[in-house]
Amino acid sequence: MIPAIHEDPLTPELLRCFQKDLLRWYQRNQRPLPWRGSRDPYRILVSEVLLQQTRATTAAAYYERFLERFPTLPALARSSLESVLEVWQGLGYYSRARNLHLTARRITADHGGIIPSDPEVLQSLPGIGPYTAAAVASIAFNRDAAVVDGNVLRVLSRVFACRLDPRLPAVRQSLQLLADRLLPAGKASQFNQALMELGALICTPRKPVCRLCALAGVCASLRTGEVQSIPAHTPRPPLPCRNRIVAVVESETGKMLLFTRRPPSGLLGGSGNSPALIRAGRRMDSNLPGDGWSGGSGATPGCGGLNATNLAPCGTPTAISTKITQSSSIQACPSWAHENMQGDFGEGQHPKRNKRCAGNIQTN
Ligand code: SF4
Repeated sequence: MIPAIHEDPLTPELLRCFQKDLLRWYQRNQRPLPWRGSRDPYRILVSEVLLQQTRATTAAAYYERFLERFPTLPALARSSLESVLEVWQGLGYYSRARNLHLTARRITADHGGIIPSDPEVLQSLPGIGPYTAAAVASIAFNRDAAVVDGNVLRVLSRVFACRLDPRLPAVRQSLQLLADRLLPAGKASQFNQALMELGALICTPRKPVCRLCALAGVCASLRTGEVQSIPAHTPRPPLPCRNRIVAVVESETGKMLLFTRRPPSGLLGGSGNSPALIRAGRRMDSNLPGDGWSGGSGATPGCGGLNATNLAPCGTPTAISTKITQSSSIQACPSWAHENMQGDFGEGQHPKRNKRCAGNIQTN
């Protein structure tokens, strides 16, 4: 058990708050997200995979697009991985798309095309961990499985005044046990969504709105004035840095952007990218191009005719992901270098037609 939690935390008042007041609040205040109200296991599976590491409002746009292209599990299983990654483009964490595609094929081959309702069986599928398995089992099949995501960890940490970092495995496990005990039998679908929604809308990381919270009457950290210091965060080591030269290569018609496909595993695995050269370092140097650029780890394979001296600079955006800080120099690639380049090129969206890139990239 968590040492910081006071004895016998599940009082009758606390159970009433979680099992009645919270559900009532959810009925009145839930957001009209596109997957709400659906009990279709395929739609729930797609929404839960999209919601891994992604805000609900961002996931909602991709959800509609994904289901338009792959409306059923058999349709997804029959599709190529490239077509799935194409719809996923821009959302990040591309291993989710690869695993969802693989899961659809596994369910077709091993489960007769029926999505399993048992959380243990769901966890045996690619990319489905305890959180997603519990979410699908409870929301699609109303199985009594408590979901514990980042929002739930924060709410429970605050309600029980847990002063330890909830990302630590032992602390997370203890909070999972509390969530299991709080779950009202037969109401898992509503309970799980209510707790996650409270974390997303009311018990937010920086400015929780305690005066509107259904759990305020039993919240120990509100009582002790520790809301801002809970949950605790263990500092993470600094991210590695690297520089990248990205070549913008237009197709012959000038209407599309040529790209290569990254290897299936690793950072942004399987996604389409412009050819790139890599150099490790703290920040983008001002005297680009220069020496030391290579097609080593993280570079695009098959950049045979591309080198750092035959390109013209267009912009230097910096991107920070959970794994790396990366500065990119966007460079226009002249047609002679383009013709000499080797590799398996496909066509992607032209940057002039992509508002997110338009400010950084000009081609001539
Ligand atoms: S009272 Fe405040 S800190 Fe406690 S659960 Fe509600 S919003 Fe979070």
